[in-house]
Amino acid sequence: MTGPSVEAKLVLIVEDNEINLKLVRDLLQYRGYRTLEAMSAEEGIALAISHQPDLVLMDIRLPGMDGMAALGVLRADDRTSGIPVVAVTASVMPEERDRFRLAGFDGFIEKPIDVRSFASQLQGFIDGRQPSA
Ligand code: MN
Repeated sequence: MTGPSVEAKLVLIVEDNEINLKLVRDLLQYRGYRTLEAMSAEEGIALAISHQPDLVLMDIRLPGMDGMAALGVLRADDRTSGIPVVAVTASVMPEERDRFRLAGFDGFIEKPIDVRSFASQLQGFIDGRQPSA
């Protein structure tokens, strides 16, 4: 097996549902991304610090600390504050979307995952990563 000529982007998936986790992992790996997986916010934060992923996909409803609180921890830490974090949740109410935006998420992907648009959505979030002006 030969490695990719350009290092594949690394995406950290924080998701406590094994079926969703597997779906997202498979979609990402099929598209050539490298993945890291965490089933709790606490584990995800530790992996973000140690591996510096290019993007974090953050489930909102998690056991223990939820995804909203986890975003706060990532943003407050210089080691992780610049990593784009996208909320992944079934919450579709407009006021919920506003709440995610105000909380500082870089984007929002709705569950159930749309397998046809998922990869292009992700690529947009990764490409959109810019130093804040
Ligand atoms: Mn969940």
